[in-house]
Amino acid sequence: MTTSPPMKSDLLLKGGHVIDPVNGIDEPMDVAVSGIKIAAVAPEIPASMAACVADVSGCYVTPGLIDLHAHAWGSVAAMFPDEMCLPYGVTTMLDAGGSGWRNFAEFRQNRIVPAVTRVFALLNIVGAGMAGDDAEQDVSDMDAGATAEAILARRDIVVGIKTAHFRGPGWENVDRAIEAAERSGTFVMVDQNAVESRTTDQLLEKLRPGDIATHCFAWNKPIIGNDGLVKPHFQSARERGVQFDVGSGNNSFSFSMAKPSIEQGFLPDTISTDTRRKSLLSTFATMPEIMTKLLAVGMSLNDVVERSTITPALQLGHPELGSLSVGADADIAVLELATGDYGLTDGGRTGFRVMQADMRMVPQMTVRNGAVVWDLNGRSLEGWENTPPPDNRLP
Ligand SMILES: [Zn+2]
Repeated sequence: MTTSPPMKSDLLLKGGHVIDPVNGIDEPMDVAVSGIKIAAVAPEIPASMAACVADVSGCYVTPGLIDLHAHAWGSVAAMFPDEMCLPYGVTTMLDAGGSGWRNFAEFRQNRIVPAVTRVFALLNIVGAGMAGDDAEQDVSDMDAGATAEAILARRDIVVGIKTAHFRGPGWENVDRAIEAAERSGTFVMVDQNAVESRTTDQLLEKLRPGDIATHCFAWNKPIIGNDGLVKPHFQSARERGVQFDVGSGNNSFSFSMAKPSIEQGFLPDTISTDTRRKSLLSTFATMPEIMTKLLAVGMSLNDVVERSTITPALQLGHPELGSLSVGADADIAVLELATGDYGLTDGGRTGFRVMQADMRMVPQMTVRNGAVVWDLNGRSLEGWENTPPPDNRLP
């Protein structure tokens, strides 16, 4: 019997602390990548065994972050996937209803296909997608059948339905979104403020196990009652399997909702940004920043990483994306928990506010499909002193 010599890997992340909830790892480990796959996760992998070695000591190494609510299409100041994801450790994003069945093909062609980031989509129940406030109120463009058909035609990308910003007195948007989800075997994500004729407790009762209520810590969808406690209908919806997503955004994350909820043990199922230009420029709604805010109000690092990796992967129906298992696609985030004096911002009824904090998560490196696509401190690069002399053959 012969044993083949161990293969040399392409990239070695050396000296970091791996947090990989799926594999129960929360300790110092090296991570080797060969081609587009995770090749090994082990306590000591020799530097000589890799073509490129990145010293990530002092950093956490996690599966690539998965942002379950962001905007790469539609009129809500959507951004290009790569620029809003890769510098922040995010390797997979879910576009939350920017397009509807009428314009998904255009979205796919212009934003999803060219992206390095892996992009999934929810179709808006409105055929035109997020084409402005008037369009989002147009009940005549909420076609459950056409939406379900469009989902089934691109089930590799489209994982569910979004309904948002509806101000009408009735339930047309929610009912048709659920009908489309039932016809396509998918889930619904809802962003809806209560009005007199349809309240949040009624909404949560309509949602099915696996459906998502987003903006769960928004001041205008208050999870905390006047008694300071998490409202009973949020608790009972969770017991039935309704999922609660952060969707931080511009003004949809309030410390005064998040802190008591978490202190009372009501943690968000998934952490997400609701990133678009406005939310980036107001409360810096990036994954590491929202993870920082949740750490600041009492969540553990393990809980925060789990709900930014494997939990959203399961919601997408792609459990293979949320881990550093050997053989998985090499999507990796390298995150530093820096210490210092920081201010973390939220949005609420009376405008933006700040919470003082002594740490901030800084995205140091992002690896997508085995390639280093973000490297803040050049950890994977050669020192500049090693640059070859310039070519001076021309005057
Ligand atoms: Zn949104």
